[in-house]
Amino acid sequence: MDFLGHQKILILKSRFFELYDIKLINDDYDIIIQEALQAIKEVFGAVEVTLYTSEEWDLNWSIVSTTASRDDLGKNTCIKENLQLASGYKFFRLPITEDTIHDYMMLALKSKEKLDYILAIKIKKELLDEPNGEISLFDMVAKEVGILFRNMQNMLNVNRDKKKYKQLFKVTEKFHSSMKMEDVLREVIFTLKKVYPSYHYYLLLSHDNNSPMDLPIKDLEYDSENMAAMEAYVTAELQFENLKEEKSSVIYAPLKGKQGVYGVLQIIVPDVSSFPKNEVEFISLLANTAGGALENAQLYQQSKKLVTDLQLINEASDQLNSNLRLNEMMTYICERISASFNAKEVGFILFSIENDSTKVLQGSSSFFFEPESKNYIDYFKEKIQMEKDSLFLGDFSMQLEDVRYKSVMAVPMMQTGILKGFAIVMHPDAYHFSFDTFKLLQSLIHHSTLALTNSLLREELEKMVVTDHLTKLFSRSYLDEKIQRSLIEDKEGTFILIDIDDFKLINDTYGHQIGDDIIIQVANIIKENIRSSDVGSRWGGEELAIYLPKVTLSLGVTIAERLVKKVRDYSKPSVTISCGVSYWNKQTNDTYNTLFKRADKALYIAKETGKDKVVIQNTLLVSE
Ligand code: GH3
Ligand code: MG
Ligand code: MG
Repeated sequence: MDFLGHQKILILKSRFFELYDIKLINDDYDIIIQEALQAIKEVFGAVEVTLYTSEEWDLNWSIVSTTASRDDLGKNTCIKENLQLASGYKFFRLPITEDTIHDYMMLALKSKEKLDYILAIKIKKELLDEPNGEISLFDMVAKEVGILFRNMQNMLNVNRDKKKYKQLFKVTEKFHSSMKMEDVLREVIFTLKKVYPSYHYYLLLSHDNNSPMDLPIKDLEYDSENMAAMEAYVTAELQFENLKEEKSSVIYAPLKGKQGVYGVLQIIVPDVSSFPKNEVEFISLLANTAGGALENAQLYQQSKKLVTDLQLINEASDQLNSNLRLNEMMTYICERISASFNAKEVGFILFSIENDSTKVLQGSSSFFFEPESKNYIDYFKEKIQMEKDSLFLGDFSMQLEDVRYKSVMAVPMMQTGILKGFAIVMHPDAYHFSFDTFKLLQSLIHHSTLALTNSLLREELEKMVVTDHLTKLFSRSYLDEKIQRSLIEDKEGTFILIDIDDFKLINDTYGHQIGDDIIIQVANIIKENIRSSDVGSRWGGEELAIYLPKVTLSLGVTIAERLVKKVRDYSKPSVTISCGVSYWNKQTNDTYNTLFKRADKALYIAKETGKDKVVIQNTLLVSE
């Protein structure tokens, strides 16, 4: 190469140097190529300079950029046919038959990205004619263009990476601020859209429970079609797949947390023969970050669920230990189960040991008191007595035909090793309950069996004993007996039925302990105001009753009125009571039942007409 050649290369270099402008590289890479071609054109006095490219697998060459007008390009038909041939040589001189002055000099530029370039320079023949001169000169041109392109590409990559990692940083921050799986998935997709607008992507999730419809989420299923995805899921390693026909390349990146893989991110890059290597690291970082975030969100949701489960058990235990009557306790448990588990029917079935029969506890849903329930009760009774273990059926119709309820959970109630009965929870839909629900039910029943059997025992005992344990008044059974006897032996008597007003509110406001205390206070006021021949008793719950043998109605009413006033004045926290009074003598022809009914009716009227008062049988006579 002569001195002039060196000069030209130097000028070309300095022209290229001016192109190293980071802003231009980012904003308009095409302009840089255009400028580079223009520089070559000017330095060598060429007519036109054109850059062609082709993908590795196709022989179609297309123009990246040119200094020529479209018209001029069209004139040179010979060049198209020779591009593929020229790509096999470092230099290729293509004579232009219809042009006596110019020829084409074609330089093949190999790149790392599996793209081939050809730089075609239409230049004066005489420049190319110099013996050997052109070889080293164009060698230098090719080298300089190569350096320029490589550097530009590097700068571009560095800058793209910077943007990508900035995005990753942002998304990580967002992940940490959200505890919802949905938010994490949404953020992954958003990031991908931003970083790779031309790629396609899917989230393949293992057990996709109600994820949002607008996200590209697919079920990760074990089928031979998607072996690579499954492989990524199982091995927790990146997998690649090149689809020759679709001319695209796919990466499967596991969404990996510390404890497991939560899904697979599938990214499809169109129009490439293999996956772009420099994107792999970023994608795998994004997938891992997302995996970690999904894990956090899942753990958070699980722990939240555990907390609600524990709360349920806790609240239930509280209620069960608060001295509720059996009926109320059962009603409470059944309501809680049907609300928390979204169950249709809830039943508590007790075994009676003596005659192998069953008894449905009050509070169970009404279905269990219908004949249709017998099928279910008999079936599960037998199973549970045999296996002494819980049953979790997703589809009961597989065992028994024509059943209304397909999902059934049955949990035995065991106490000190003895099978007392079982709880049964049902829903018409198959596979309605989750296994977690089943576990929770087991735990709940386990925790409540003791309270339940205690309460049962208490009620049975109460029937037998003479004194009520809480108030130390007489028991109901004792009162019953006394009235029955008085009706035979005496001439007359008065019956007062007492109910504490708004007692539910007292319990709700102060708790059951204070509630119990109030019952005791009222009982004590009763004891202080009756004679020893009178029978003050606990009728049940917060209802009390007094039987006054050989006492007239007017005296009975006076006593009742005194009680109403004393309770109002001395109870603390202050409560009021309502009384219904009934009376019998030899003319009234009363039985125990009619006597009670009249008092109950009077009490009802007292409640309906403002409470804190005494109402006398068969009248609207009210005294406050
Ligand atoms: P009303 O004025 O109509 O009588 O209103 P109330 O709130 O008293 O209604 P109701 O008689 O239906 O409710 C009785 C409540 O008393 C319900 C139950 O929780 C509570 N209770 C029943 N027995 C006991 C008991 O032994 N101890 C306590 N602490 N509460 C009881
Ligand atoms: Mg009551
Ligand atoms: Mg009451």
